[in-house]
Amino acid sequence: MAFIDISTLDPAKTIVVSTGNAHKVVEIEEILGKVLPEVRFVALGELGDFPDAVEDGETFFDNALIKARYALACTGLAMAVADDSGLCVDALGGAPGVWSARWAGEHGADDANNEKLMREMADVPEPERTARFHSSVVLAYADGSVLSGEGDCEGRIGYTPVGTNGFGYDPLFLPDDTPGRTMAQLELAEKNTISHRFHALVDLASKLGA
Ligand code: IMP
Repeated sequence: MAFIDISTLDPAKTIVVSTGNAHKVVEIEEILGKVLPEVRFVALGELGDFPDAVEDGETFFDNALIKARYALACTGLAMAVADDSGLCVDALGGAPGVWSARWAGEHGADDANNEKLMREMADVPEPERTARFHSSVVLAYADGSVLSGEGDCEGRIGYTPVGTNGFGYDPLFLPDDTPGRTMAQLELAEKNTISHRFHALVDLASKLGA
């Protein structure tokens, strides 16, 4: 795939999205594009073959900021947006939290992560199975300033995986907004109206539009 030449982009009208995931760019553009209609959103992966940022922050916000500033450093552009998200389970003291992607060892091993979640939750009674997905979204500027948004999607942890859509912990997560259905049983369009990332982006957009 040919990369976009960074020198052809207008830094005042370009936001680099610090992700390799094209779906995230679409989701981010759909919401932030409403308050920033002039802006072009470009994935970091479209601009070059950059290694992943080292996400060693202690909070979702820290990791989102690390990723956004990494995209600024890689590209020399003036604005970058990044999100960091994960699952926080009350009965597990908020785990896996910022460790969500690599909880079972290898980064992004969804099946192993879900096996571990089922094991750890096996003896947890129904009233204590509450959890939430959390997302922090950060818009970082080259001058050092930062705007951010936070969002949650409240729900419960199921007993066995159900559904084939989505990714990560979706098959074991029953959002309060969609009773009886896991996140993995929702179409993407529906997930995008209730998800933690949606709420975090709307929070950030409200600060930009103000
Ligand atoms: P990321 O910060 O969006 O890359 O997410 C980190 C990890 O959190 C993912 O690898 C998943 O394990 C989990 N996660 C984040 N968002 C979701 C979601 O919408 N559904 C399921 N799992 C998620």
